[in-house]
Amino acid sequence: MATRRRVAVIGAGMVGVCAASFLRRDGHEVTLVDPNGPGEGTSFGNAGGLNGASIVPMSMPGMIWNVPKWLTDPLGPLAIRWSYLPFLAPWLIRFLRSGTPAQVEVQARALRSLLKPCLETLLPLAKAAGVEDMIHRRGGLFVYRSRESRAKDNAGFELRRRHDIACEDLNADEIRQLEPALSHEYVCGVLIHENAHTVNPHRLVASLAEAFVRAGGKITRAKATGYVIDGGKLSAVNTDSGEIAADAAVLAAGIHSRALAGEAGDKVPLETERGYHLMIRDPEVTTRICVADGAGKFVATPMETGLRLAGTVELAGLDAPPNWERARIMLRHGRRMLPGLATNYAEDRLTMWMGHRPSLPDSLPVIGPSRRSPDIVYAFGHGHVGMAAAPMTGRVIADLVAGRPPAIDVTPFRADRF
Ligand SMILES: Cc1cc2nc3c(=O)[nH]c(=O)nc-3n(C[C@H](O)[C@H](O)[C@H](O)COP(=O)(O)OP(=O)(O)OC[C@H]3O[C@@H](n4cnc5c(N)ncnc54)[C@H](O)[C@@H]3O)c2cc1C
Repeated sequence: MATRRRVAVIGAGMVGVCAASFLRRDGHEVTLVDPNGPGEGTSFGNAGGLNGASIVPMSMPGMIWNVPKWLTDPLGPLAIRWSYLPFLAPWLIRFLRSGTPAQVEVQARALRSLLKPCLETLLPLAKAAGVEDMIHRRGGLFVYRSRESRAKDNAGFELRRRHDIACEDLNADEIRQLEPALSHEYVCGVLIHENAHTVNPHRLVASLAEAFVRAGGKITRAKATGYVIDGGKLSAVNTDSGEIAADAAVLAAGIHSRALAGEAGDKVPLETERGYHLMIRDPEVTTRICVADGAGKFVATPMETGLRLAGTVELAGLDAPPNWERARIMLRHGRRMLPGLATNYAEDRLTMWMGHRPSLPDSLPVIGPSRRSPDIVYAFGHGHVGMAAAPMTGRVIADLVAGRPPAIDVTPFRADRF
Protein backbone atom coordinates (compact mmCIF):
# COMPACT_ATOMS: atom_id res chain seq x y z
CA MET A 1 0.00 0.00 0.00
CA ALA A 2 1.33 3.43 -0.94
CA THR A 3 -0.23 5.68 1.72
CA ARG A 4 -2.16 4.81 4.84
CA ARG A 5 -5.14 7.19 4.99
CA ARG A 6 -7.76 8.02 7.61
CA VAL A 7 -11.02 7.20 5.84
CA ALA A 8 -14.54 7.97 7.07
CA VAL A 9 -17.19 5.85 5.37
CA ILE A 10 -20.60 7.51 5.70
CA GLY A 11 -23.35 4.88 5.87
CA ALA A 12 -23.19 1.28 7.12
CA GLY A 13 -25.49 -0.36 4.59
CA MET A 14 -24.29 -3.15 2.31
CA VAL A 15 -22.43 -0.64 0.14
CA GLY A 16 -20.69 1.20 2.98
CA VAL A 17 -19.76 -2.00 4.82
CA CYS A 18 -18.27 -3.58 1.68
CA ALA A 19 -16.31 -0.38 0.95
CA ALA A 20 -15.08 -0.17 4.56
CA SER A 21 -14.03 -3.83 4.48
CA PHE A 22 -11.93 -3.45 1.33
CA LEU A 23 -10.43 -0.18 2.57
CA ARG A 24 -9.44 -1.87 5.83
CA ARG A 25 -7.90 -4.74 3.86
CA ASP A 26 -5.72 -2.10 2.20
CA GLY A 27 -4.47 -1.09 5.65
CA HIS A 28 -6.24 2.26 6.02
CA GLU A 29 -7.55 3.57 9.32
CA VAL A 30 -11.28 3.28 8.61
CA THR A 31 -14.28 4.61 10.56
CA LEU A 32 -17.81 3.63 9.53
CA VAL A 33 -20.21 6.41 10.51
CA ASP A 34 -23.93 5.70 10.87
CA PRO A 35 -26.58 6.82 13.35
CA ASN A 36 -28.07 3.32 13.14
CA GLY A 37 -26.68 -0.20 13.30
CA PRO A 38 -25.10 -1.83 10.21
CA GLY A 39 -27.64 -3.02 7.64
CA GLU A 40 -30.65 -1.34 9.22
CA GLY A 41 -31.48 0.82 6.18
CA THR A 42 -32.62 -0.49 2.81
CA SER A 43 -30.11 -3.32 3.11
CA PHE A 44 -32.32 -4.74 5.88
CA GLY A 45 -35.39 -5.95 4.08
CA ASN A 46 -34.62 -6.47 0.41
CA ALA A 47 -35.27 -9.69 -1.51
CA GLY A 48 -31.72 -10.92 -0.92
CA GLY A 49 -30.92 -11.50 -4.59
CA LEU A 50 -27.19 -11.61 -5.34
CA ASN A 51 -27.86 -11.50 -9.02
CA GLY A 52 -25.01 -11.04 -11.43
CA ALA A 53 -27.62 -11.09 -14.18
CA SER A 54 -29.69 -8.09 -12.99
CA ILE A 55 -28.42 -5.90 -15.79
CA VAL A 56 -31.78 -4.86 -17.24
CA PRO A 57 -32.32 -1.14 -16.52
CA MET A 58 -35.69 -0.15 -15.06
CA SER A 59 -36.46 2.14 -17.99
CA MET A 60 -36.72 -0.07 -21.08
CA PRO A 61 -37.96 0.81 -24.58
CA GLY A 62 -41.74 0.38 -24.73
CA MET A 63 -42.11 0.09 -20.95
CA ILE A 64 -44.23 3.24 -20.88
CA TRP A 65 -47.12 1.31 -22.52
CA ASN A 66 -47.41 -0.95 -19.45
CA VAL A 67 -47.61 1.98 -17.04
CA PRO A 68 -51.37 2.78 -17.31
CA LYS A 69 -52.25 -0.88 -16.65
CA TRP A 70 -49.84 -1.09 -13.70
CA LEU A 71 -51.15 2.15 -12.19
CA THR A 72 -54.83 1.28 -12.49
CA ASP A 73 -54.42 -2.24 -11.05
CA PRO A 74 -54.63 -1.99 -7.24
CA LEU A 75 -52.54 -5.19 -7.07
CA GLY A 76 -50.13 -3.85 -9.69
CA PRO A 77 -46.37 -3.42 -9.23
CA LEU A 78 -46.31 0.40 -9.53
CA ALA A 79 -47.97 3.14 -7.49
CA ILE A 80 -47.51 6.90 -7.59
CA ARG A 81 -48.70 9.26 -4.87
CA TRP A 82 -50.15 11.96 -7.07
CA SER A 83 -49.47 14.78 -4.58
CA TYR A 84 -45.75 13.95 -5.06
CA LEU A 85 -45.87 14.15 -8.86
CA PRO A 86 -44.74 17.80 -9.17
CA PHE A 87 -41.54 16.94 -7.23
CA LEU A 88 -41.06 13.68 -9.09
CA ALA A 89 -41.64 15.01 -12.63
CA PRO A 90 -38.02 16.01 -13.50
CA TRP A 91 -36.72 12.58 -12.36
CA LEU A 92 -39.50 10.81 -14.22
CA ILE A 93 -38.73 12.65 -17.45
CA ARG A 94 -35.04 11.72 -17.17
CA PHE A 95 -36.04 8.14 -16.35
CA LEU A 96 -38.20 7.83 -19.47
CA ARG A 97 -35.55 9.51 -21.65
CA SER A 98 -32.89 7.08 -20.48
CA GLY A 99 -34.77 4.10 -21.93
CA THR A 100 -33.57 4.34 -25.53
CA PRO A 101 -32.13 1.15 -27.10
CA ALA A 102 -28.65 2.69 -27.36
CA GLN A 103 -28.59 3.90 -23.75
CA VAL A 104 -29.95 0.62 -22.45
CA GLU A 105 -26.98 -1.18 -24.03
CA VAL A 106 -24.53 1.20 -22.34
CA GLN A 107 -26.29 0.92 -18.97
CA ALA A 108 -26.44 -2.89 -19.19
CA ARG A 109 -22.71 -3.10 -19.99
CA ALA A 110 -21.90 -0.86 -17.02
CA LEU A 111 -24.19 -2.82 -14.69
CA ARG A 112 -22.69 -6.10 -15.86
CA SER A 113 -19.18 -4.89 -14.99
CA LEU A 114 -20.35 -4.26 -11.41
CA LEU A 115 -22.59 -7.29 -11.01
CA LYS A 116 -20.80 -10.15 -12.74
CA PRO A 117 -18.02 -10.31 -10.10
CA CYS A 118 -20.57 -10.13 -7.23
CA LEU A 119 -19.96 -13.58 -5.76
CA GLU A 120 -16.21 -13.84 -6.35
CA THR A 121 -15.84 -10.42 -4.66
CA LEU A 122 -18.26 -11.06 -1.80
CA LEU A 123 -17.20 -14.59 -0.87
CA PRO A 124 -13.78 -13.67 0.59
CA LEU A 125 -15.49 -11.09 2.83
CA ALA A 126 -18.22 -13.57 3.81
CA LYS A 127 -15.59 -16.23 4.50
CA ALA A 128 -13.64 -13.88 6.77
CA ALA A 129 -16.90 -13.14 8.58
CA GLY A 130 -17.70 -16.86 8.87
CA VAL A 131 -21.01 -16.52 7.01
CA GLU A 132 -20.38 -18.16 3.64
CA ASP A 133 -23.30 -20.48 4.40
CA MET A 134 -25.66 -17.49 4.19
CA ILE A 135 -25.04 -17.32 0.44
CA HIS A 136 -26.97 -19.90 -1.57
CA ARG A 137 -25.73 -20.42 -5.11
CA ARG A 138 -28.67 -22.20 -6.66
CA GLY A 139 -29.77 -19.85 -9.44
CA GLY A 140 -32.84 -17.65 -9.76
CA LEU A 141 -36.10 -18.36 -11.55
CA PHE A 142 -38.59 -16.16 -13.44
CA VAL A 143 -42.05 -17.67 -13.94
CA TYR A 144 -44.98 -16.73 -16.21
CA ARG A 145 -48.67 -17.60 -16.43
CA SER A 146 -48.84 -17.11 -20.20
CA ARG A 147 -46.61 -17.06 -23.25
CA GLU A 148 -47.75 -13.46 -23.80
CA SER A 149 -46.46 -12.26 -20.44
CA ARG A 150 -43.20 -14.18 -21.04
CA ALA A 151 -42.91 -12.41 -24.41
CA LYS A 152 -43.11 -9.01 -22.65
CA ASP A 153 -39.80 -9.82 -20.95
CA ASN A 154 -38.11 -11.00 -24.18
CA ALA A 155 -36.12 -7.81 -24.59
CA GLY A 156 -34.66 -8.22 -21.10
CA PHE A 157 -33.63 -11.84 -21.65
CA GLU A 158 -32.17 -10.99 -25.08
CA LEU A 159 -30.18 -8.19 -23.45
CA ARG A 160 -28.86 -10.64 -20.85
CA ARG A 161 -27.93 -13.16 -23.55
CA ARG A 162 -26.05 -10.46 -25.46
CA HIS A 163 -24.00 -10.02 -22.29
CA ASP A 164 -23.21 -13.75 -22.11
CA ILE A 165 -25.67 -14.55 -19.35
CA ALA A 166 -27.05 -18.08 -19.68
CA CYS A 167 -30.88 -17.95 -19.51
CA GLU A 168 -32.44 -21.42 -19.72
CA ASP A 169 -36.05 -21.57 -20.91
CA LEU A 170 -38.14 -24.06 -18.92
CA ASN A 171 -41.54 -25.57 -19.61
CA ALA A 172 -44.30 -26.14 -17.03
CA ASP A 173 -42.99 -29.59 -15.99
CA GLU A 174 -39.45 -28.35 -15.61
CA ILE A 175 -40.43 -25.43 -13.36
CA ARG A 176 -42.49 -27.79 -11.20
CA GLN A 177 -39.53 -30.17 -10.85
CA LEU A 178 -37.42 -27.28 -9.68
CA GLU A 179 -40.09 -25.69 -7.47
CA PRO A 180 -42.79 -28.23 -6.56
CA ALA A 181 -44.85 -25.77 -4.47
CA LEU A 182 -45.44 -23.36 -7.37
CA SER A 183 -48.96 -22.90 -8.75
CA HIS A 184 -49.91 -24.98 -11.78
CA GLU A 185 -51.02 -21.73 -13.42
CA TYR A 186 -47.40 -21.09 -14.39
CA VAL A 187 -46.76 -22.39 -17.89
CA CYS A 188 -43.14 -21.42 -18.47
CA GLY A 189 -40.09 -19.93 -16.85
CA VAL A 190 -36.49 -18.90 -17.26
CA LEU A 191 -33.72 -20.19 -15.00
CA ILE A 192 -30.65 -18.03 -14.54
CA HIS A 193 -27.97 -20.33 -13.23
CA GLU A 194 -25.46 -17.71 -12.08
CA ASN A 195 -27.87 -15.91 -9.72
CA ALA A 196 -27.70 -16.51 -5.98
CA HIS A 197 -29.34 -15.21 -2.83
CA THR A 198 -28.62 -14.58 0.81
CA VAL A 199 -30.92 -16.06 3.42
CA ASN A 200 -30.75 -12.91 5.57
CA PRO A 201 -29.52 -9.60 4.09
CA HIS A 202 -29.50 -7.85 7.48
CA ARG A 203 -27.48 -10.54 9.24
CA LEU A 204 -25.11 -10.70 6.27
CA VAL A 205 -24.35 -6.96 6.47
CA ALA A 206 -24.13 -7.02 10.28
CA SER A 207 -21.73 -9.99 10.14
CA LEU A 208 -19.50 -8.30 7.55
CA ALA A 209 -19.46 -5.21 9.80
CA GLU A 210 -18.45 -7.32 12.82
CA ALA A 211 -15.61 -8.85 10.79
CA PHE A 212 -14.54 -5.33 9.77
CA VAL A 213 -14.31 -4.36 13.46
CA ARG A 214 -12.40 -7.56 14.30
CA ALA A 215 -9.95 -6.60 11.54
CA GLY A 216 -9.29 -3.24 13.22
CA GLY A 217 -12.04 -1.05 11.73
CA LYS A 218 -14.09 1.32 13.86
CA ILE A 219 -17.82 2.04 13.91
CA THR A 220 -19.10 5.37 15.23
CA ARG A 221 -22.79 5.95 15.85
CA ALA A 222 -23.30 9.45 14.43
CA LYS A 223 -25.01 11.26 11.60
CA ALA A 224 -22.67 12.90 9.09
CA THR A 225 -23.66 16.50 8.36
CA GLY A 226 -20.90 17.84 6.09
CA TYR A 227 -17.18 18.12 5.45
CA VAL A 228 -14.25 20.30 6.40
CA ILE A 229 -12.49 21.09 3.13
CA ASP A 230 -9.66 23.53 2.68
CA GLY A 231 -8.20 24.25 -0.74
CA GLY A 232 -9.80 21.07 -2.11
CA LYS A 233 -8.29 18.92 0.65
CA LEU A 234 -10.53 17.13 3.15
CA SER A 235 -9.51 17.26 6.79
CA ALA A 236 -12.65 16.05 8.61
CA VAL A 237 -16.23 14.86 8.32
CA ASN A 238 -18.70 16.81 10.45
CA THR A 239 -21.24 14.81 12.42
CA ASP A 240 -23.95 15.56 14.96
CA SER A 241 -21.48 14.27 17.59
CA GLY A 242 -18.49 16.32 16.49
CA GLU A 243 -15.76 16.12 13.85
CA ILE A 244 -14.14 12.91 12.64
CA ALA A 245 -10.63 13.62 11.38
CA ALA A 246 -10.31 12.14 7.89
CA ASP A 247 -8.23 12.70 4.80
CA ALA A 248 -10.66 10.68 2.67
CA ALA A 249 -14.42 10.14 2.89
CA VAL A 250 -16.75 7.70 1.15
CA LEU A 251 -20.37 8.77 0.82
CA ALA A 252 -22.49 5.60 1.00
CA ALA A 253 -25.61 6.85 2.76
CA GLY A 254 -28.08 5.26 0.32
CA ILE A 255 -31.15 7.42 -0.25
CA HIS A 256 -29.84 9.98 2.25
CA SER A 257 -26.79 10.76 0.08
CA ARG A 258 -28.33 13.59 -1.93
CA ALA A 259 -27.77 16.42 0.58
CA LEU A 260 -24.23 15.25 1.42
CA ALA A 261 -23.39 15.06 -2.31
CA GLY A 262 -24.72 18.62 -2.60
CA GLU A 263 -22.32 19.66 0.18
CA ALA A 264 -19.53 18.12 -1.89
CA GLY A 265 -20.55 20.14 -4.94
CA ASP A 266 -22.71 17.70 -6.92
CA LYS A 267 -26.43 17.97 -7.66
CA VAL A 268 -27.62 14.43 -8.29
CA PRO A 269 -31.17 13.39 -9.17
CA LEU A 270 -31.45 10.72 -6.49
CA GLU A 271 -35.02 9.55 -5.89
CA THR A 272 -36.57 6.91 -3.71
CA GLU A 273 -38.30 3.94 -5.31
CA ARG A 274 -40.04 2.68 -2.23
CA GLY A 275 -40.47 -1.07 -1.94
CA TYR A 276 -42.16 -3.38 0.54
CA HIS A 277 -41.84 -6.85 1.90
CA LEU A 278 -44.12 -9.18 3.77
CA MET A 279 -42.65 -12.12 5.66
CA ILE A 280 -44.44 -15.29 6.70
CA ARG A 281 -42.90 -17.10 9.65
CA ASP A 282 -43.00 -20.93 9.40
CA PRO A 283 -44.77 -20.96 6.02
CA GLU A 284 -46.62 -24.14 5.04
CA VAL A 285 -44.71 -24.20 1.74
CA THR A 286 -41.78 -22.25 0.37
CA THR A 287 -39.54 -21.93 -2.66
CA ARG A 288 -36.01 -23.37 -2.86
CA ILE A 289 -34.53 -20.36 -4.64
CA CYS A 290 -35.50 -16.77 -5.45
CA VAL A 291 -38.57 -16.99 -7.68
CA ALA A 292 -39.74 -13.86 -9.50
CA ASP A 293 -43.24 -13.59 -10.91
CA GLY A 294 -42.34 -11.98 -14.23
CA ALA A 295 -45.66 -10.18 -14.74
CA GLY A 296 -46.38 -9.36 -11.08
CA LYS A 297 -42.83 -8.03 -10.60
CA PHE A 298 -42.44 -9.48 -7.12
CA VAL A 299 -40.03 -12.03 -5.69
CA ALA A 300 -40.42 -14.92 -3.25
CA THR A 301 -37.21 -15.68 -1.36
CA PRO A 302 -36.69 -18.47 1.18
CA MET A 303 -35.06 -16.71 4.13
CA GLU A 304 -33.74 -18.28 7.34
CA THR A 305 -36.56 -16.51 9.19
CA GLY A 306 -39.41 -17.44 6.84
CA LEU A 307 -40.70 -16.77 3.35
CA ARG A 308 -40.11 -13.22 2.13
CA LEU A 309 -42.39 -11.75 -0.55
CA ALA A 310 -40.83 -8.52 -1.79
CA GLY A 311 -41.30 -5.99 -4.52
CA THR A 312 -43.45 -3.11 -5.78
CA VAL A 313 -42.30 0.35 -6.70
CA GLU A 314 -44.04 3.24 -4.96
CA LEU A 315 -43.07 6.74 -6.01
CA ALA A 316 -44.07 8.88 -3.05
CA GLY A 317 -40.91 10.55 -1.74
CA LEU A 318 -38.98 10.06 1.48
CA ASP A 319 -41.39 11.52 3.97
CA ALA A 320 -44.81 10.03 3.17
CA PRO A 321 -45.88 7.36 5.68
CA PRO A 322 -45.81 3.75 4.42
CA ASN A 323 -48.95 2.44 2.76
CA TRP A 324 -49.04 -1.02 4.37
CA GLU A 325 -51.70 -2.10 1.90
CA ARG A 326 -48.83 -2.32 -0.62
CA ALA A 327 -47.19 -4.96 1.62
CA ARG A 328 -50.45 -6.83 2.25
CA ILE A 329 -50.88 -7.12 -1.52
CA MET A 330 -47.79 -9.34 -1.40
CA LEU A 331 -49.70 -11.91 0.61
CA ARG A 332 -52.37 -12.16 -2.08
CA HIS A 333 -49.70 -12.47 -4.75
CA GLY A 334 -47.86 -15.05 -2.64
CA ARG A 335 -50.95 -17.23 -2.23
CA ARG A 336 -51.53 -17.19 -5.96
CA MET A 337 -47.90 -18.18 -6.55
CA LEU A 338 -47.79 -20.81 -3.79
CA PRO A 339 -51.34 -22.15 -3.29
CA GLY A 340 -50.17 -24.29 -0.35
CA LEU A 341 -49.86 -21.16 1.81
CA ALA A 342 -52.63 -20.75 4.38
CA THR A 343 -55.61 -18.52 3.63
CA ASN A 344 -55.38 -16.77 7.00
CA TYR A 345 -52.44 -15.93 9.22
CA ALA A 346 -52.33 -14.74 12.81
CA GLU A 347 -50.74 -11.29 12.76
CA ASP A 348 -47.78 -12.52 14.83
CA ARG A 349 -46.69 -14.73 11.93
CA LEU A 350 -46.51 -11.78 9.52
CA THR A 351 -44.06 -8.90 9.44
CA MET A 352 -44.06 -6.01 7.01
CA TRP A 353 -41.34 -3.59 6.02
CA MET A 354 -40.84 -0.63 3.71
CA GLY A 355 -37.49 0.52 2.32
CA HIS A 356 -36.09 3.17 -0.01
CA ARG A 357 -34.28 2.02 -3.13
CA PRO A 358 -31.78 4.84 -3.83
CA SER A 359 -32.32 5.34 -7.55
CA LEU A 360 -30.84 7.47 -10.29
CA PRO A 361 -32.97 7.83 -13.44
CA ASP A 362 -30.54 5.84 -15.62
CA SER A 363 -30.47 2.83 -13.22
CA LEU A 364 -26.74 3.32 -12.58
CA PRO A 365 -25.16 4.23 -9.24
CA VAL A 366 -22.83 7.14 -8.64
CA ILE A 367 -19.26 5.96 -8.06
CA GLY A 368 -16.30 8.32 -8.25
CA PRO A 369 -14.81 11.54 -6.89
CA SER A 370 -16.81 14.60 -5.92
CA ARG A 371 -16.55 17.97 -7.60
CA ARG A 372 -15.30 19.86 -4.52
CA SER A 373 -12.59 17.43 -3.47
CA PRO A 374 -11.02 14.28 -4.92
CA ASP A 375 -10.79 13.10 -1.29
CA ILE A 376 -14.58 12.62 -1.16
CA VAL A 377 -15.63 9.57 -3.16
CA TYR A 378 -19.22 8.61 -3.90
CA ALA A 379 -20.76 5.14 -3.61
CA PHE A 380 -24.53 5.51 -3.69
CA GLY A 381 -27.62 5.18 -5.86
CA HIS A 382 -27.62 1.42 -6.43
CA GLY A 383 -31.40 1.29 -6.88
CA HIS A 384 -32.73 -2.25 -7.30
CA VAL A 385 -29.34 -3.99 -7.25
CA GLY A 386 -27.42 -2.65 -4.26
CA MET A 387 -26.93 -5.98 -2.51
CA ALA A 388 -25.40 -7.52 -5.62
CA ALA A 389 -23.44 -4.46 -6.77
CA ALA A 390 -22.02 -3.56 -3.34
CA PRO A 391 -19.04 -5.95 -3.25
CA MET A 392 -17.55 -4.70 -6.54
CA THR A 393 -18.42 -1.11 -5.64
CA GLY A 394 -16.45 -1.61 -2.42
CA ARG A 395 -13.44 -2.95 -4.31
CA VAL A 396 -13.51 -0.06 -6.76
CA ILE A 397 -13.82 2.47 -3.92
CA ALA A 398 -10.68 0.99 -2.34
CA ASP A 399 -8.90 1.38 -5.68
CA LEU A 400 -9.97 5.03 -5.98
CA VAL A 401 -8.96 5.90 -2.40
CA ALA A 402 -5.58 4.24 -2.93
CA GLY A 403 -5.07 6.06 -6.23
CA ARG A 404 -4.90 2.75 -8.15
CA PRO A 405 -6.56 2.36 -11.56
CA PRO A 406 -10.04 0.98 -10.68
CA ALA A 407 -10.76 -2.68 -11.39
CA ILE A 408 -13.51 -1.62 -13.84
CA ASP A 409 -14.22 1.45 -15.95
CA VAL A 410 -16.06 3.89 -13.65
CA THR A 411 -16.78 6.51 -16.33
CA PRO A 412 -20.48 5.51 -16.68
CA PHE A 413 -20.96 6.08 -12.93
CA ARG A 414 -19.48 9.58 -12.64
CA ALA A 415 -21.52 12.16 -10.69
CA ASP A 416 -21.39 14.87 -13.37
CA ARG A 417 -23.18 12.76 -16.01
CA PHE A 418 -26.50 14.51 -15.27
C1 LIG B 1 -38.26 -4.35 -1.71
C2 LIG B 1 -36.82 -4.29 -2.13
C3 LIG B 1 -36.23 -5.42 -2.67
C4 LIG B 1 -34.89 -5.39 -3.08
N1 LIG B 1 -34.31 -6.52 -3.54
C5 LIG B 1 -32.99 -6.51 -3.89
C6 LIG B 1 -32.34 -7.71 -4.32
O1 LIG B 1 -32.95 -8.78 -4.35
N2 LIG B 1 -31.03 -7.64 -4.68
C7 LIG B 1 -30.34 -6.45 -4.66
O2 LIG B 1 -29.17 -6.45 -5.04
N3 LIG B 1 -30.91 -5.31 -4.22
C8 LIG B 1 -32.22 -5.32 -3.84
N4 LIG B 1 -32.81 -4.17 -3.40
C9 LIG B 1 -32.03 -2.93 -3.39
C10 LIG B 1 -31.05 -2.89 -2.22
O3 LIG B 1 -31.70 -3.22 -1.02
C11 LIG B 1 -30.43 -1.50 -2.11
O4 LIG B 1 -29.91 -1.09 -3.36
C12 LIG B 1 -29.27 -1.52 -1.11
O5 LIG B 1 -29.70 -2.04 0.12
C13 LIG B 1 -28.69 -0.12 -0.93
O6 LIG B 1 -27.64 -0.25 0.00
P1 LIG B 1 -26.93 1.05 0.58
O7 LIG B 1 -25.85 0.59 1.44
O8 LIG B 1 -26.62 1.99 -0.54
O9 LIG B 1 -28.09 1.79 1.42
P2 LIG B 1 -28.68 1.46 2.86
O10 LIG B 1 -28.75 0.03 3.13
O11 LIG B 1 -29.97 2.25 2.95
O12 LIG B 1 -27.61 2.08 3.84
C14 LIG B 1 -27.42 3.47 3.96
C15 LIG B 1 -26.99 3.74 5.39
O13 LIG B 1 -26.64 5.11 5.49
C16 LIG B 1 -27.04 5.56 6.75
N5 LIG B 1 -27.11 7.03 6.73
C17 LIG B 1 -28.07 7.79 6.19
N6 LIG B 1 -27.78 9.08 6.37
C18 LIG B 1 -26.60 9.12 7.04
C19 LIG B 1 -25.80 10.18 7.51
N7 LIG B 1 -26.12 11.46 7.33
N8 LIG B 1 -24.65 9.87 8.17
C20 LIG B 1 -24.29 8.57 8.36
N9 LIG B 1 -25.02 7.53 7.91
C21 LIG B 1 -26.17 7.81 7.26
C22 LIG B 1 -28.35 4.86 7.01
O14 LIG B 1 -28.66 4.82 8.40
C23 LIG B 1 -28.09 3.49 6.41
O15 LIG B 1 -27.63 2.58 7.37
C24 LIG B 1 -34.15 -4.17 -2.97
C25 LIG B 1 -34.74 -3.05 -2.40
C26 LIG B 1 -36.05 -3.11 -1.96
C27 LIG B 1 -36.67 -1.89 -1.34
